[in-house]
Formats: sequence, structure tokens, C-alpha cells
Amino acid sequence: MDEKTKLSRRNFIKTGIAGAAAAVTAVSLPGIASADTAAGHPLPNECTQWSWEKPVKAIPEKQIKKTVKSDVVVIGAGLAGITAALSAAEFGASVQLIEKNNTWAARGGHITAFDSKIQKRLGIKNNYRQVIRDWIAWAQGRMDERLLWSFAEKSGACMDWAVAIGEKYGLKVTMWEGYYKGPDYTEYPVTHFFHEEDADLSYVYGNSKGIGNVTLVPALEKEAKSKGVAFNYGTPAVQILKGSDGRVNGVIAGKPGKYTKFIAPSVIIATGDYASNDEMKRCYSPFSLKADAQIYFPNKCNTGDGHIMAMQVGGAMQRHEPHGATVHLEAGAASYGFLHVNALGNRFKNEDVNTQSKSCSKELEPGGIAWTIYDRDGLTQVKKQVDANLAGGLFYGQMWQPWGNGFNLEVEKMTQEAHIKDGKVVTASSIEELASKMNVPVENLIKTVSRYNELYKMQDDVDFGKRKELLTPIINPPFYAGKLFSTLLTMSGGVRTDSNLLVLDAEGNPIQGLYVAGSAGGEFFANDYPTICPGINHGRCLTFGRMAGIKAAGKDPYKIIPSIKI
Ligand SMILES: Cc1cc2nc3c(=O)[nH]c(=O)nc-3n(C[C@H](O)[C@H](O)[C@H](O)COP(=O)(O)OP(=O)(O)OC[C@H]3O[C@@H](n4cnc5c(N)ncnc54)[C@H](O)[C@@H]3O)c2cc1C
Repeated sequence: MDEKTKLSRRNFIKTGIAGAAAAVTAVSLPGIASADTAAGHPLPNECTQWSWEKPVKAIPEKQIKKTVKSDVVVIGAGLAGITAALSAAEFGASVQLIEKNNTWAARGGHITAFDSKIQKRLGIKNNYRQVIRDWIAWAQGRMDERLLWSFAEKSGACMDWAVAIGEKYGLKVTMWEGYYKGPDYTEYPVTHFFHEEDADLSYVYGNSKGIGNVTLVPALEKEAKSKGVAFNYGTPAVQILKGSDGRVNGVIAGKPGKYTKFIAPSVIIATGDYASNDEMKRCYSPFSLKADAQIYFPNKCNTGDGHIMAMQVGGAMQRHEPHGATVHLEAGAASYGFLHVNALGNRFKNEDVNTQSKSCSKELEPGGIAWTIYDRDGLTQVKKQVDANLAGGLFYGQMWQPWGNGFNLEVEKMTQEAHIKDGKVVTASSIEELASKMNVPVENLIKTVSRYNELYKMQDDVDFGKRKELLTPIINPPFYAGKLFSTLLTMSGGVRTDSNLLVLDAEGNPIQGLYVAGSAGGEFFANDYPTICPGINHGRCLTFGRMAGIKAAGKDPYKIIPSIKI
């Protein structure tokens, strides 16, 4: 961050609510106004401040109708929040959990952990030092390595804890075998998922009945209730309270005029990310606005409330920008690493990369458009590649591919059929017909496909360097073209925090009593979402949720949670 930027943003953050107006003056000084632009922040359209930088007034006492006291307040009933609440309660704290929706939030289900009992049982070993090094390389060192080490050492035991609770409520847990096995953009076998015993693990067009976090989160909720956690649903947190001693001491939540003051010496922010807040995306991660779609349940609940409330009491956002975003090809066709072409029918990349990378590189092509092209034998070849440990990744039929089962070709074909029906995949008996259905120049596509077939014959991708094992000929009709659709799942940047999960101010000083866990937390990712550990979003919800809960209950998670030796 350059000197000018320090002047505008840090002044605001340091001065917190009361000092916000003074910082505005600094931002609008001649020569300084462009500082945010220089730092990569387009200035907001009609004002010189982001809306969250405006001064906020303390909510008047007369609007508070009720006061509730506890040891810990957790804001947000997602995986991180419920884990934190339960963990605090297990260590003797009285806990109030407040959630703005009428129920918990759960999505997906891939969860990273290192060296869990399940991994040990299945004989899965990784060089975790190498995993961390890869992770750091992905972020170009722009995150806090101490957080990665905390995660690495503690995630296995936190997973074992969650598995024990899941099993108590009748759930099964297995590892996901569909991870990406390419040598360059490799993913590691670290991904766990929960499911009901009789769940059908075929992911035909989004089937997740009885699978993933929709099974784990309610189990954690039941367990938390049994340990006395009070769930306040339909209760949005609106302001975090800080005493004159600088410590956070509660939260105001509820509806205007009928607020409840939750008083507690420890408050944990677990409000998720800000993927549904376009202004925050414009500020912290403009590239994320390019995604074709956003899937979210519950719809639009992730508006960055926790980040904003933290900043209003002096907390800072993570040091490095732009923030990463989790963007996968979720809403369109599966790419499988076949030949990719842009809207002009031209090849533009080495397709041997993970779903995140494909989603992002496509955005840079004309109109953000890309297609994957294959022929009659394409899916059979993918099965051979995956079963030979040469490929993998988020192929939809294999979303819940359980450990040891291999690539399920039938499920993949059913998914393809469904995609053809709804127009995500088009088919044709000639490349000319395919080009016209894709609306790309016919001559270009013919040229591109014939060049690709030539590379296949040569067994040498001299154009983009794809591994020869992944070159597949496009010669036998029917031909297929799947339209790729980038889908924003989660913003992967958040509030600055230390290894105790305490929120930090811009100078790195902890704000006593204020913790953050899950997607609202920062310093863990930078620039991009590292898919080397599929499920790392959920992994940190579980691990840091548990650590924050124990810490907020006044105990030391570093002593209580067993570590693995790395
Ligand atoms: C479709 C989809 C699939 C995904 N699959 C995976 C996957 O397989 N693996 C993976 O690692 N990641 C996945 N992700 C990302 C992952 O789901 C998120 O990173 C994760 O849910 C974050 O959990 P959290 O507990 O931090 O926040 P959330 O789950 O977002 O929960 C936050 C809660 O806080 C509440 N809240 C917000 N503001 C307030 C307020 N002011 N007052 C009170 N409550 C508030 C929200 O309503 C919400 O219930 C997926 C995301 C999507 C959208």
C-alpha cells in the first residue's frame, strides 16, 4: 500500500466511528483523492466515501427493549458460527447466538482437514509442509503464514470432533476422491464430506439430498442446543458495542425500535462473506463482479455486515487486496479439460487447470465467453484419465465421488443428458453445425479443431503445453460443446485477524473481546482462492470456528486442541 493510500484508508480505520469525518477530509484533498484509484480501488460513483466509511450514530437507549447477558455472543448461524457457539458452550460459557435469517446457513459440503482419523484410516498421507508452501505460492505470500500453520496443525482434530458429532446424529463421513490430480495445478486428498447413511451420492443435476453441510450443520445445531446455546433466529445484529476501555462488550440486534442489547465480554463475528454486496466487491475485488452467476442459499444473506460492524469499532480489513473470490464453473457445463475455445472459435489456453482457474481465465476472453469441445468418446476418455490418476476436479457427476469408488461414467452421462436438455451443452453431427449452434465463426472452429487433432496425433501440444495424456481427438460424431459459466460462490477476503482469532486494527493491535471466524475472517487467502485443498473455505470455518469459540470461553485452543506434527 502506498503512502497516499495509507493516509486515506488508515486514518479512517484508526479513528473508527468518531474519526470517520476527519478521514473523509483527507480522502478528498487534492492529489489524495486519486489514492484509492491508484491502489486499485475505483472510487464510488457519487460520493467520496464507501457507504461503510460513513460515521454511524450509536443506537439510542430508548430503542432498546430488552437486555440479555451471557459470556459469549456469536453473530451468524453458518458452519463457523454454530461451531464457535457449540465449542464455547462445551467449555462452560453461556452463549447467545444471533442470526438474521429464520434458520441456519449451509451450502456445499467439501471440507478440508489435514490428517484426520478418517484420512489415517484410509491410509491417505500428504506432505503438509509442501501443501503450505504451495498455498503460499498461490497467494504470493500475501497472507499471514501463521494462520496457515494454525489451520494445518489443528484442522485434523477439529474434523475428528465434527465427525464424532455427525456420527452421534447418524451421519457418515467419507473422503472425496474426485480431486484434481494433475501435476501442475494439483489438488490434495484432504476433502471430507458428511452424508446420511442411505443418501444417493450420484450428483445428477445438483442432487445433494442428504449430503454435505445441510446434514452437518443441523447436527451441530442440535448438539449446541443440547449444550444450552440459545439460538435467536430472525435477529439481525446491527451494531457492535465497545466500552471506554477499548474492549468490545456486546452487540445490539433486532428490529428498529425493538432492539435487544446482548451484553457479553466476548463477541464472535461469523457473518460469512460479502458476495451479495456489490459495493464491497467493487472496492475489494472488482474482478469478482465479472462472474456470470452467483448461487447462494439463503439468498443474499452475505452482505458483509460483520466486516462493516468490525470496521465501525476500529477493526481493519485484511492487509492485501484484491481479495480472492471463490469462482467455480458451477452454473454451466463441466469443462473436463477438453479443447476450450472462445467466442471467436479460437483456442486460448492450456485447459489442464482447475475449475477456479478456468472460470477466471474465461472472463478475460471476448464477452467472457468460452466453450469446451469434445466428441462421442470424450467422457469415456475422461474416465480413463481420472481412474489412472491423471485428471479430476469438479466434474459434476463426481461432486460426491466417494473414496475408492472410481469415476462413475453412468452418472456423468446422466448429467450430460440433463445439460443437453436445458441447453448448457449443444450437440451436432458436424463441426460446422456445432459452430452454428454455438454462434462462433465456422471457419475458425474448423481450423481450431483440426489443429487440435493434429496436436493429438503429434502427442505434443506445442501451442499451449497441455500434458499429452489429456489431448483427446475430436473426430467421431456426435460432437459436443458445453458453455462454461463462472459462478461466484464466496468472497475469500475479510477482517484482519491474528492467530487467536482476535480482530485487529490497522496497526495490528487486537480489539479485545472481538473475534472473527469463517468467511468473514481475513489474512488467510490473497488474490485468488487456492483450490489445492478443495473445501478449504469450510475447513477454516470448522477449525477457526472451534478455536474462536474455545478462546472466547476463556480457554486456550492451542493447548486444548491436539496438533499434528507437520
Ligand atoms: C453453492 C455453494 C457451494 C459451496 N460449496 C463449498 C464447498 O463444498 N466447500 C467449501 O469449502 N466452501 C464451499 N462454499 C463456500 C462456503 O459455503 C462458505 O465459505 C461458508 O458457507 C462460509 O461459512 P460461514 O459460517 O463463515 O458463513 P455463512 O455460512 O455465510 O453463515 C453466515 C451467517 O451469518 C448470518 N448473518 C449475516 N449477517 C448477519 C447479521 N447482521 N446478523 C445476524 N446474522 C447475520 C447469515 O444470514 C448466515 O446465516 C460454497 C458456497 C456456495 C454458495
